[in-house]
Amino acid sequence: MRLLLATRNAGKLKEFRELMSGLPIECTFLSELGIAEEIAETGKTFLENAILKARGYAALSGLVTLADDSGLEVDALGGAPGVQSARWAGPDASDMDRIRLLLGRLRGVPPEQRGAQFRCVAAMATPGGQVCTTEGAIRGEIIDTPRGSHGFGYDPVFFIPELGATMAELAPQVKNHISHRARALAAARPILAEMAAREGQGQAHGR
Ligand code: IMP
Repeated sequence: MRLLLATRNAGKLKEFRELMSGLPIECTFLSELGIAEEIAETGKTFLENAILKARGYAALSGLVTLADDSGLEVDALGGAPGVQSARWAGPDASDMDRIRLLLGRLRGVPPEQRGAQFRCVAAMATPGGQVCTTEGAIRGEIIDTPRGSHGFGYDPVFFIPELGATMAELAPQVKNHISHRARALAAARPILAEMAAREGQGQAHGR
């Protein structure tokens, strides 16, 4: 089966490809197909946005498509920034600007009320519009002083008590094993395996 990985983020592409290893799946990506269109993330939830992207790019490409949407949900902020994680400090803001905004909003909030989670929804869509979704999350706490140089986004202030480290202090192989995205993608793997098997049977029967 040919599968479109619908992301322009190099880090995510790498994670997506690792998930697919060992499956009878040939991966392709947006730039390889010359798809420059952006599907607007107009949904109110990660689920809506992941489905929008998977369905949109499946229709554009004619291929089964895997897309995801993810972000940070902070308990003391009622789940914000959530789907706004990439955009809430404005269109030209940097990761550091977003971290500053987050820490500003949490000023005075005591450590025991700084719980948060990274959440990811993965969606797999067929060109006909059928869709399956999976989810992954990881809990942590927002700390005031950024630590670590790996990863991206909010990783330097996302502390995981069980590991005694921020997400940015973890080696990429470790993050790719325990992250919200890794968990959503691990759950997606058997679904993709079944889709590939069905496609194989269809081809064997000349469909
Ligand atoms: P998207 O899934 O590419 O739309 O990601 C939304 C935003 O959520 C990113 O731009 C980051 O700010 C944040 N985010 C998602 N995943 C991670 C992660 O693994 N580490 C840190 N920040 C993340």
